[in-house]
Amino acid sequence: MRIVLVGPPGAGKGTQAAYLAKNLAIPHISTGDLFRANISQGTELGKRAKAYMDAGDLVPDEITIGMAKDRMEQPDAENGFLLDGFPRNVSQAEALDVMLKAEGMKLDAVLDLEVEEDEVVKRIAGRRLCRNEDKHVFHVAYAPPKTEGVCDICGGELYQRGDDSEETVRRRLEVYHTQTEPIIDYYKAQGLLVTISALGKVDDVTRRAMEALKK
Ligand code: ADP
Repeated sequence: MRIVLVGPPGAGKGTQAAYLAKNLAIPHISTGDLFRANISQGTELGKRAKAYMDAGDLVPDEITIGMAKDRMEQPDAENGFLLDGFPRNVSQAEALDVMLKAEGMKLDAVLDLEVEEDEVVKRIAGRRLCRNEDKHVFHVAYAPPKTEGVCDICGGELYQRGDDSEETVRRRLEVYHTQTEPIIDYYKAQGLLVTISALGKVDDVTRRAMEALKK
């Protein structure tokens, strides 16, 4: 299966992607995670991406598309993948179509996680990540760790992402509305769009997503 997840920052794409990828036995490919890994490893790509991310802006396509393509070409992604955070604008969606077409492949579904803006801001403000592993995500109120500031899974230190500050979140939402939302219509026109509500408990959303994908 080849699936794209879309939704505003804070919709829970990363959280859902981890569960769905496991259920569907396909790799979870997050461009945000790839950028953060490049930043923490101090790579040239990471250095180029950082300022854009800190400002809440999109990293330019000429950096992003190549990085996403390299990851999709890894052997573990041969039989499918779950894309999280890519594509994030129409030109990335078009580049993805071209890429897949060249391999005789196509997307199976685009899962749109719907959630209102107030909720998104609450989710992001309380979000804490583990320094050891981006996929270990907590929330001070909604999913608190057993010990404050410590990852339940590996004992790592929890921190708040630099771009999760209120000001940057506002900018990220604006970028989402102007640049990312148009891909929803793009995929609707291709008959690929499946929309579900991202409200409620994590497992309920996962269940909703699995049901929607079955159809
Ligand atoms: P969220 O979905 O919560 O906004 P991500 O981890 O997906 O967080 O992305 C964090 C930041 O990484 C984005 O604000 C953007 O700067 C950059 N980024 C991630 N994916 C892309 C992409 N496909 N194109 C451009 N920039 C991206």
